[in-house]
Amino acid sequence: MPANDPHTHDHGSELSEMQLRVKALETILTEKGYVEPAALDQIIENVETRIGPHIGARVVARAWVDPEFKRRLLTDATEAVNSVAEFDPVGAHLIAVENTPQTHNVVVCTLCSCYPWPVLGLPPVWYKSAPYRSRTVIDPKGVLADFGVSLPPGTDIRIWDSTAETRFLVVPIRPDGTEGWSEEALAALVTRDSMVGTGLPKSPEENKAGAAR
Ligand code: FE
Repeated sequence: MPANDPHTHDHGSELSEMQLRVKALETILTEKGYVEPAALDQIIENVETRIGPHIGARVVARAWVDPEFKRRLLTDATEAVNSVAEFDPVGAHLIAVENTPQTHNVVVCTLCSCYPWPVLGLPPVWYKSAPYRSRTVIDPKGVLADFGVSLPPGTDIRIWDSTAETRFLVVPIRPDGTEGWSEEALAALVTRDSMVGTGLPKSPEENKAGAAR
């Protein structure tokens, strides 16, 4: 085994207090037979390497090019996302909400930090922050302005409050100038924030500028 394997090396002082606690908890749960170490490793590996906003981006891009998939996504997002085989099934009930020129959707969890992990990965720090959780409901326009998002006057902003049972995924508006683009090229425009509603997808120009940097 490699010297840096976390299970074999000396656990001196290099682990943080939190890591030590997690380790202790994992040991107890394993010893009592409540968890299977291999299953636990698989879950951690999934969270660290497999889930992430690139999955949500693929789902959104597919919805942009495939009207039938979009219909399924908006009808039953859990089913539609799970049908895109290569990733972990969505456990909690997932609802996809579509932005239109009239309506912009924003997702928040006012109680804690519920977030659609299978499609977006781990939540960013701001999502879990108290100001975001409280202000999004009271002053959505102000929050969007902080994120640099300004919507055409008269756009209706709809706030979706996540819970442990129900998570939301925003399907942003497909950017102009992307007619005929492949699903893969479109997915590169779909940012994490655009799927939470605190951002918009990149325009083809922004994407080109970003890639050239
Ligand atoms: Fe929550």
